[in-house]
Amino acid sequence: PKLSGAEIRERFLSFFESKGHARLPSSSLVPEDPTVLLTIAGMLQFKPIFMGETPRKVPCATTTQKCVRTNDIENVGVTARHHTFFEMLGNFSFGDYFKKEAIQYAWQLSTEVFELPPERIWVSVYEEDEEAYQLWLEGVGVPAERIKRMDGSSNFWASGATGPCGPCSELYYDFAPERGVGADVDLEDDSRFIEFYNLVFMELQRTSEGKLLPLENKNIDTGLGLERVAQILQGVPNNYETDLILHIVDKAASLAGVNYATADNATKTSLKVIGDHTRAVTYLISDGVTPSNIGRGYVVRRLLRRVVMKGRLLGIKGIFTPTVAEVAIALSGPCDPNVAANAARIYDVLKTEEATFSATLERGQKQLNDMLAKLAGSKKDGAAPVLAGTDAFLLYDSFGFPLELTQEMAEQQGVQVDVPGFEKEMAAQRARSKDSREEIDLMSRGMLSSMASILGSTQFLGYESLQATGEVK
Ligand code: ATP
Ligand code: MG
Ligand code: MG
Ligand code: MG
Repeated sequence: PKLSGAEIRERFLSFFESKGHARLPSSSLVPEDPTVLLTIAGMLQFKPIFMGETPRKVPCATTTQKCVRTNDIENVGVTARHHTFFEMLGNFSFGDYFKKEAIQYAWQLSTEVFELPPERIWVSVYEEDEEAYQLWLEGVGVPAERIKRMDGSSNFWASGATGPCGPCSELYYDFAPERGVGADVDLEDDSRFIEFYNLVFMELQRTSEGKLLPLENKNIDTGLGLERVAQILQGVPNNYETDLILHIVDKAASLAGVNYATADNATKTSLKVIGDHTRAVTYLISDGVTPSNIGRGYVVRRLLRRVVMKGRLLGIKGIFTPTVAEVAIALSGPCDPNVAANAARIYDVLKTEEATFSATLERGQKQLNDMLAKLAGSKKDGAAPVLAGTDAFLLYDSFGFPLELTQEMAEQQGVQVDVPGFEKEMAAQRARSKDSREEIDLMSRGMLSSMASILGSTQFLGYESLQATGEVK
């Protein structure tokens, strides 16, 4: 059935309510836990219960949780399934029901509530978790050919070096069953499969000597991606074309004077980035984060700068992020009723930050144009002009231009950038000073981990570190 995003959310939550779960609100994107930068999963608000630090208030619960994952920033618009901001639906058991019920619920939810054809569902289990394998095979009746055993890099969860941990089991939807079954079928092949539901069976405890002991109170932690299920049930090619996001993307397209549906792939990617990041900063600002050069504030700043850069490259003139955010706010009600109430503040922050960054961008653009004009003047016949690595580095260092932006702008005038030269300058700068190394790291792909080390937030990296090894790029 073509369920709306709102219907999917509601069906999930009321299904688990009907199974005795307390429906609890999403927690803020700013976690109470001071060691964690942002809320990256539904379980975070329950971490003290799972860790045995606070008593449970209810035996089991269900939520829809706002999440932001900066580790997926490079995947946005590139894969069909990754966002920085997304909603994670979850069912949690605090020493109440365990593996058998969690697996049965997941199957019933998928096949009866969402009415997914059973033969389209594949599951993964941790290679040593024979119990889960048998529960899927015998208990649920999934044929062996659609159960894959995966290793610990993707299917074993731990909250840290010591403490509660346990095997995972994931549910995948098959977009291309005609490609058949067999040992060589790879569930991480995203041209065929999408992971939509992850079940964590918290049943072990790792001691400081590295021993795995059984956990007294066994817990269930799960996460189901709302946008991903919407993609599946709405029959669209990616999360961005679901009713949860498409209106935001369309607004960006209309500001750029293009039509999303008929745009080329590069334009589509830029529009998806604008849609995704605008949604993320809208919720982050609503939850009290403001742009700055450190920590969460830097996440907002970086996301917003990417929106502005993409917008300018698409030819959008003038302050535009509040206009795009207006659509994100209009869609936010069922996920988070507080966003609309914070609209005025959100517009204000966006406007100020966009104006400041736009001024820097303009100055950098002038500098780049001068560089390109000089290149054109000294152009040798036949040879394609190349912008020097030192020039690209200057733009980066003085105007905050990421290499990607310089490349895109130069390419518009048929000029390539000397990337190895740029990287040499980066390395030289890194070697020159420890302080600037930290700054550079913040601008690069390693942003989250370096921020985490600066802030000392290394205690809960379970999801991040699992992703670092299990990521499909
Ligand atoms: P993937 O392997 O696709 O990156 P994951 O294994 O990192 O996903 P989990 O940490 O298991 O994801 O999170 C639970 C669920 O949340 C996933 O099964 C998925 O449905 C959803 N999810 C995770 N990351 C994202 C994201 N970046 N954007 C949208 N949904 C996500
Ligand atoms: Mg995964
Ligand atoms: Mg997973
Ligand atoms: Mg991931």
